[in-house]
Amino acid sequence: MPRLPRIITIDGQAHTGKSLAATKLAGELNLYLLNTGAMYRSVAHLLGEAGVDVLDMNREADRIHALIAPWEFALNGHEVHVNGTPMPPTIFDEPMNALASGVSKWAEVRRKLQAEQKRIAGLHPHVICEGRDQGTKVFPEAELKFFFLACYDVQAERAARKKRELSPDDAIDMAALRRRVEERDREDKSRDVDPLRKADGAVEIDTSGMTPDEVLARLLQEVAAWQAPAT
Ligand code: C5P
Repeated sequence: MPRLPRIITIDGQAHTGKSLAATKLAGELNLYLLNTGAMYRSVAHLLGEAGVDVLDMNREADRIHALIAPWEFALNGHEVHVNGTPMPPTIFDEPMNALASGVSKWAEVRRKLQAEQKRIAGLHPHVICEGRDQGTKVFPEAELKFFFLACYDVQAERAARKKRELSPDDAIDMAALRRRVEERDREDKSRDVDPLRKADGAVEIDTSGMTPDEVLARLLQEVAAWQAPAT
């Protein structure tokens, strides 16, 4: 049985196939899947329920800190529980994208989730972590790092497909959807705390013209190269 990396990270832009690739690789190699975007979505949901305006950049940091400090996260695939309570599937709906991106700018939220990510990863022997700061900030020591990107036409088309799956009856304004996808990437790349960027040593994959199986094959190829004894 070839050895496996302890940590593999996939960071990258929105709708570039990170989640699907991470899920498939986890299934293929029996890795624990850490979907960190779902954690930011959960925080946006719970803070919203607590009456916090998650798009307010002048929020009360002490109040946010006090609210989130006792939260313990558990993840099973794409399901998230916080203090034992399951998060609703609506955390993955399109309107939650901007709200999750909003809370991800707050240092106190990032520190909390990054600590939880390290704690959860410590419970499993081999982990694939997917998000925006996994290879740069949370697990810089990861043996294998990937950075996914795609062209905006493809990102918007994938966003539309996801929206159609979730709400088949809703009309889709493609131009507006594309603007929101671009805007979210811009926000994620330009925030002050841990902005999205390619980690040192990360393998860049442009998934624009690739099928999910081709992306998986590419990841497996890199894992095999890592496993091959140095000559
Ligand atoms: O990956 P997903 O689209 O579910 O992530 C939602 C948002 O959460 C991202 O747009 C980003 O703002 C934030 N996020 C983050 N760091 C991560 C994962 C997600 O800032 N590690």
